[in-house]
Amino acid sequence: MIKFLDLKAINDSFEPELSQAVKRVINSGWYLLGKENEAFEQEYASFIGTKHCIGVGNGLDALRLIFKAYIEMGIMQEGDEVIVPANTYIASILAISDNRLIPVLVEPDINTYNIDPFLVEEKITKRTKAIMIVHLYGQNAMNAEIQTLAYKHNLKIIEDNAQAVGCFYADIRTGSLGDAAGHSFYPGKNLGAIGDGGAVTCNNEKLASVIRALANYGSTKKYVNDYQGLNSRLDEIQAAFLRVKLKRLDADNQRRREIAQYYIENIVHPNIILPFAKGQKQITNSHIFHLFVIRTPQRDQLQQYLTKNGIQTLIHYPIPPHKQLAYMEWNGMSFPVTEKIHNEVLSLPISPVMTDIEVRKVTEILRTFVTLK
Ligand SMILES: *Cc1c(COP(=O)(O)O)cnc(C)c1O
Repeated sequence: MIKFLDLKAINDSFEPELSQAVKRVINSGWYLLGKENEAFEQEYASFIGTKHCIGVGNGLDALRLIFKAYIEMGIMQEGDEVIVPANTYIASILAISDNRLIPVLVEPDINTYNIDPFLVEEKITKRTKAIMIVHLYGQNAMNAEIQTLAYKHNLKIIEDNAQAVGCFYADIRTGSLGDAAGHSFYPGKNLGAIGDGGAVTCNNEKLASVIRALANYGSTKKYVNDYQGLNSRLDEIQAAFLRVKLKRLDADNQRRREIAQYYIENIVHPNIILPFAKGQKQITNSHIFHLFVIRTPQRDQLQQYLTKNGIQTLIHYPIPPHKQLAYMEWNGMSFPVTEKIHNEVLSLPISPVMTDIEVRKVTEILRTFVTLK
């Protein structure tokens, strides 16, 4: 069987360094807010290209903490609006509503699946304080239109970089393009820990120090609390683990691009829409292919066919946020592009440990998919 993502094989490929790193932490007797986290924060900030990095508990917390800090700083307040793509993983939106800010959903572009920049301005009101862009599936979502709008309307740009660690916009890394970015090191992400992990990156010193305090009970000094914070920290084992994997991330992302290039050139099927459907064939570093997502009106049929042929696939995502019970107040709203995407997408296996033989097998089986009526 070809697995969707073989996490064990991925982590095995870093041995023995991973086990050594974990052992080093166990032996150190220091498990939180220590040398590994500090070193990781420096290495990660330098990788992304920002002045600051704060290691936190997970990707959702990274995003939540950014808004919480802006509220503490008086830059945002309850009831302010944040523009966010309707087509995203629900965590992007949870980070906004958790802070009693109002998520304002915007449809994606059907070719990139990222927020449609031409639909943003009509959603801007006097209460709009930020645009959250999500580099979905690992593809950069920044563009000149978003930058112009943010400047014109004095909006913060928050990046959800959970799926795009290592990605570029021109020659600048995503995660350093806006005012602040949230990153996830969930095991299945391109830079995956052995448990939960996340980070915030930014260039603003004040913002960084408020986030650092908020993630540690609102404390700036032990037992001195300036804010009503939470406990969300990147532990030493995760930090040590991530330091090992960060060194190979660009090479691993390049291998994903190679696989994606092969898929794009060789999956030929009248009913299957590939990424870059507009005819763009040459992959650039503005996509790290966290996911390789195809689209077909016969999605469920295709998934069954692939399963029968030993190929594991997943759907990212089956139910859009506005159709979830968690956001019942939006259930009656209509986002046709988002809904079409959720009904038609299917994610193929892709990872740095996939072999050429496996990639070819997926491609060949897809070519022989026959559509039933
Ligand atoms: C994974 C993910 C998150 C949340 O990250 P966690 O570490 O799982 O909390 C947020 N946004 C997007 C787009 C994600 O894919």
